[in-house]
Amino acid sequence: MIEVQNLTKTYGPTVAVDGISFEIPRGEVVGFLGPNGAGKTTTMRILTCYLPADSGEARVAGHDTFTEPVEVRRRIGYLPESAPVYAEMGIVEYLDFVAEVRGIPSSDRKSRIGRAVERTGLGPMIQKDIGQLSKGYRQRVGLAATLIHDPEVLVLDEPTTGLDPNQIIEIRQLIREIGREKTVILSTHILPEVEATCDRVLIINYGTIVASGTTDELTRAAQGEVLTRISVRGEAVNVEPVLMSTEGIEKVSRLDPIKDGTCRYELTTKDSEIEERLFHLAVGNNWVLTELHTETLSLEQVFTQLTLGDR
Ligand code: ATP
Repeated sequence: MIEVQNLTKTYGPTVAVDGISFEIPRGEVVGFLGPNGAGKTTTMRILTCYLPADSGEARVAGHDTFTEPVEVRRRIGYLPESAPVYAEMGIVEYLDFVAEVRGIPSSDRKSRIGRAVERTGLGPMIQKDIGQLSKGYRQRVGLAATLIHDPEVLVLDEPTTGLDPNQIIEIRQLIREIGREKTVILSTHILPEVEATCDRVLIINYGTIVASGTTDELTRAAQGEVLTRISVRGEAVNVEPVLMSTEGIEKVSRLDPIKDGTCRYELTTKDSEIEERLFHLAVGNNWVLTELHTETLSLEQVFTQLTLGDR
C-alpha cells in the first residue's frame, strides 16, 4: 500500500531523509518511531505530497506521490502534527468545509460527515464549537477530517502529543479501530504508543531506517540473546552439567546457593524457543521446574541502543 524506495530529502546542508526504503502492506498499523529531528515529519510530508523528495520514489496505493499527487491525495488522509482545526467553527461546519475542499459533492457531505462523526465518537459533542472542546476531542475532530473522504491510507503525525493520559488511551484505541479497515502510518517518539497501537515499527534515526519489525522481533534481534531464568528442584548435582552440555546454551550462571534442593540458574542463549526445550529437558531428567522465565530487552532499551550516540 505504501512503497518507499531510496527516498532522500535535504534542507540546505541538512540531510533530513537519507535514502530510506520501506514497504507497508494494506491493513497494517505501522509506528514510525524516532527521536526529534530524525526525519519522520519530512517523510510523511513527502508521502502526502506536501513536499517533493530530492530523489527516490514514494508510492501510495500504486500511485507516485510526485507524478500523480491528485490520485495519492484522494487515497490518503493526513493528520499533521498540529492539526489546523478552527476554534470558532462548529464541528459539522468544519467537517463540511473540509469535505468541500476535498471536492465531495454537497449531496454526499451530510452522510460522509455523519459517518466520520460516528467513527470518531464525536456525537455527544456535536453541538459545540471546536474551541469549546478538550484537546482529546479536538484531536478526534482532526481524525474525523482525515476520514471524511474515506481514504485507504492514514498518515498521522504524532497523533497523541499534548493529550492527557486518558485522552491518549482513547485516541490510541480509536486508531486501532480505524486500523482494522485502513493502512495507518503514525509517527511518534513515544515508545508505549508503538507497543499499544502498532502491528509493526520502523525506527528512523538521522534520516536512516535503523530497524524494522514487530516490537517482539526488534527486541529479540537487537538483543541477539535471550536471558532465561530457571529454578529446578531435584537432583541438583546433575542439573548444572546437563544445562552446560545442552546445545545452544552459551552460558550457565548459578544465581544463588542450592537451597532446599532447589537451584537457580541464568542461561544465555540465542534460541528463541529455549523455554520449550528446557521444559522437555526437565521432563527427561525428572527435574521439578519451579521457575522458567525468559527476559528480552524492552523496546525502550532497543530504541536507546539504536538511536543513542552520534551519527
Ligand atoms: P520531530 O519529532 O522533532 O517532529 P522529525 O523526526 O519529524 O522530528 P523532521 O521534522 O523531519 O524530523 O526533521 C528532520 C531534519 O530536517 C531535522 O534536522 C530538522 O531540523 C530539519 N528540517 C525539517 N524541516 C526543515 C526546514 N523546513 N528547513 C530546514 N531544516 C528542516
